[in-house]
Amino acid sequence: MTIKAKAVVLTAKNEYSVREIELDPPKDNEVRIRMAATGLCMSDLSVINGKLPMPMPIVLGHEGAGVVEEVGANVTNVQVGDHVITSFIPMCGTCHFCQHQEPWLCTATDLFSGMQPDGTSRVKLDGEYIGSFAALGNMAEQVVCPAMCVVPIKKKYSLSAAALVGCGVMTGAGAALNTAKVQPGSSAAVFGCGGVGLSALQGAKIAGANPLIAVDLNDAKLEAAREFGATHTVNAGKDPVAQIMEITGGIGVDYAFEVIGIPEVANQAYAATRRGGTCCLVGAPDAAAEYKFSGLEMALSAKKVCGCLYGSTNAKVDFEKLLGFYETGQLDLDRMQSRTYKIEEVHQGFEDMVAGRNIRGVILHGN
Ligand SMILES: [Zn+2]
Ligand SMILES: [Zn+2]
Repeated sequence: MTIKAKAVVLTAKNEYSVREIELDPPKDNEVRIRMAATGLCMSDLSVINGKLPMPMPIVLGHEGAGVVEEVGANVTNVQVGDHVITSFIPMCGTCHFCQHQEPWLCTATDLFSGMQPDGTSRVKLDGEYIGSFAALGNMAEQVVCPAMCVVPIKKKYSLSAAALVGCGVMTGAGAALNTAKVQPGSSAAVFGCGGVGLSALQGAKIAGANPLIAVDLNDAKLEAAREFGATHTVNAGKDPVAQIMEITGGIGVDYAFEVIGIPEVANQAYAATRRGGTCCLVGAPDAAAEYKFSGLEMALSAKKVCGCLYGSTNAKVDFEKLLGFYETGQLDLDRMQSRTYKIEEVHQGFEDMVAGRNIRGVILHGN
C-alpha cells in the first residue's frame, strides 16, 4: 500500500518546501517509520545551499526518532511498535569496517546518492521517484529506510530528545567519549559552541575533563556553554590560544576539539593542544578547504591530529548509552532543543539556524 506523508523536499538550490510525498512499502531488509521528531542539522543546510551537493529533488533530514510501523521481509533488529533512532551511517554487519568493530565507517549506503543501497528509491514526488538524504530523508512524517539504519531504544525516553542523538549530540559527545577518549582529570577545549560543540563539551564533562574550556566568538553562546559544563570560557576574538595557555599554565590542553570546520580555527585548536596531546577535527569544512600544520612541529611536539566521523559511534550501543546519561542528568538533551517547530515552519527553523538563534531546532510531527 502506498503511504502519503508530508516531507521537506529540496527541489533546487535554496528552494525547499513542504510537499506531499508517496512512499512505497518497505522491501526486504527495510522498515517504515512514523517519525516523531526530526532535528535540523547544519548538514541539511549544507545540502540546501549546495555546499554538500546532492541530486535533487531530495527529501531532507537525517537526524530523527520515531516508531516502526511496518517491516519488510528478513528484518530482525526491530519490530512494529519499536521506538527507534535513525542512524545516517548504516551498520551492514558484513563489510570490513563493521567486522572490525568500526561500524561508523560502514559504507553500505552512499551518503551522497540519495538512493537506497540497491540504487533505487522508495519516495515519489508528483509520481516520479526522488532521493532521500542518507537513504533516510526523515524530515518527513514517514520514511522507508534500510533496517540497518535504525536502532531500537527503550520506550521510556522522549522521542524528541532521542532524535538529537541521531546526529548532532552523538557526533559531539562521541568525539569526546569515543574518538579522543578524554580521560578523567585531563584538560579539554572545544572550539565552537553550537549544538555539536555543546555536545562535545557535555561528552568531555561526562568523561571528567577539568579544566573544560569553551571557545566561541559569541558571548551568549559562551554563557550557554557554562550551563552545559564549561569551567572556563574564552572569547575567540581575543587571542584564544594565549588565553588557553594561561588557563593551562603554559602547557596547552590535552584535548582540543574543532567543531565548525574552519581552517583558521583548526590552526588555533592545534596550537592550543599540548605537546603529545590530541587535536580532534570534528567540523565539516568546505570541500575546497585545507588544514595546514608544520610537519616538523608536529613531529617534534608529538601531537596527534584526528578526523572524526559521527563520533566514532557504534550506534547499537552508544545511542542507548547517551540516553542513559540523559536519564541520570549527566547529558542535558532538554535545553539542547532550544525551539520546536511544526513541519510547516521549517523555513523559520533554518532561518533561526542561520541567525544562530538555536542550539538545536527540532521539528515535531505531532503524532
Ligand atoms: Zn547532521
Ligand atoms: Zn558495514
